[in-house]
Amino acid sequence: MEYLSVHKEEELKSLVEKAEKIIILSHKNPDGDAIGSSLGLYHFLEMKGKYVKIIVPNEYPEFLHWLPGSDFVIKYDKEPDVAREHIENAELIFSLDFNDLKRLGKLGEIMEENKTASRILIDHHPYPKHFCDVEISTIHVSSTAELVYHLIQRLDGQALNNKDLCECLYVGIMTDTGCFSFNSSNPATFRVVAHLLQSGIDKDHIYDRIYNNYSAGRMKFMGYCLNQKMVIVPEYHTAYIGLSQKEMKEYNFKMGDSEGFVNLPLSIEGIRFSALFIEKSGHTKISFRSRGNFPANEFSARHFGGGGHLNAAGGESLESLEESIKHFVSLLPDYSKWLI
Ligand code: 5GP
Ligand code: MN
Repeated sequence: MEYLSVHKEEELKSLVEKAEKIIILSHKNPDGDAIGSSLGLYHFLEMKGKYVKIIVPNEYPEFLHWLPGSDFVIKYDKEPDVAREHIENAELIFSLDFNDLKRLGKLGEIMEENKTASRILIDHHPYPKHFCDVEISTIHVSSTAELVYHLIQRLDGQALNNKDLCECLYVGIMTDTGCFSFNSSNPATFRVVAHLLQSGIDKDHIYDRIYNNYSAGRMKFMGYCLNQKMVIVPEYHTAYIGLSQKEMKEYNFKMGDSEGFVNLPLSIEGIRFSALFIEKSGHTKISFRSRGNFPANEFSARHFGGGGHLNAAGGESLESLEESIKHFVSLLPDYSKWLI
C-alpha cells in the first residue's frame, strides 16, 4: 500500500492523537461515498474520544439520511456561522472524497483561513491538487470509504466491530461501485466488504433503504426522461438527457430524484458516452458517464470546468440548458477517436 506507507501511518497517528477538535469536510452535492466515508471516519474518531464535526457544502439526498450519525452533519448553506466557527477552532481537518478545494465552494476558502490546523486528504480521484499536509490518495480502490477502512484497520482494527461504522463504510463502497458493477474488480474490495459484513450489518436491508426507497413520482419522472427526453446520437454512440426546472417542478422533483439517471442510457447496446444536464438557477449542472477508455473526467475538465473519474465525472456550465447541450453535441466529433 504505497498510498499508506509506514511513514504516513505514523504521521497520521500522531496527528490524530494530538488533536482534540477535528473536522471532516466533503464535497458539494455529497453522494453515498462522501457521506458514508465521512460518517465512518466520524464514528471512529468519536470512539477515540475526539470532538468531531462533519461539514459539507449543501444538503444530500434523503435516501442517505438514515445513516447512523447523519443528523449531526452540518450543511454550510444552512448553518454558515456554525460551520465557520467549527472550522476556525479545528486542530485537524480531514478532506474526504474530493481532489480539489474548488469542490468545497466557499467552505474551501474558510478552511484556508485556518492556518494552524493540520490537513489530511483521503481520496480516490485522480490528479489530486496539493492542499493538504498528508495525502492518502490512490485510484486503486473502489471508493473513499474503502480507503477509510484501511486507515481504521491500521490505526485500531478493533473499531471495525462497530456496526454503525461498518454500515456507513459499506454504503460508501456499495454506492460508488454501483452495487459492485464497476470500480470493484480488485479482490481486495471484496475482502474489505467481507470484513464489514462480519460486524453484523444487513446488506440487503441497506440496499433497500438506498435503492428501493423512492417515491412513485420519481419512477414516473424516470419514465418521462427515458420516453420523452433521452436523445441518442447514434453516430457517436452517445446519449443525453436534459432537464429543465419547469419539468422538474411539474414532476415535484426532490433532491436525489435524478440519481442514477445518467447511467440509464449506458444500458443501451453500443452507447459509450452518456450525459445528464440539469438546469439550475444561473447555471447547468452536468454529469457524464462513459464506457471503456473514454476519459469522461478529461472531457469534463476541458470543456465544463469539472473532473472526476475516468468513467464517471461531472461539471458545470454557465450557459443555458439548451446552449450547454448544443455545446456538448458540437464537441462530439473531436472525440471520434474514442466514440466511433
Ligand atoms: P456525479 O455525476 O455523480 O455528480 O459525479 C460523478 C463524479 O464526478 C464524482 O466523482 C464527482 O466527484 C465528480 N464531479 C461531479 N461534479 C463535479 C464538478 O463539478 N467538478 C469536479 N471536479 N468533479 C465533479
Ligand atoms: Mn467517491
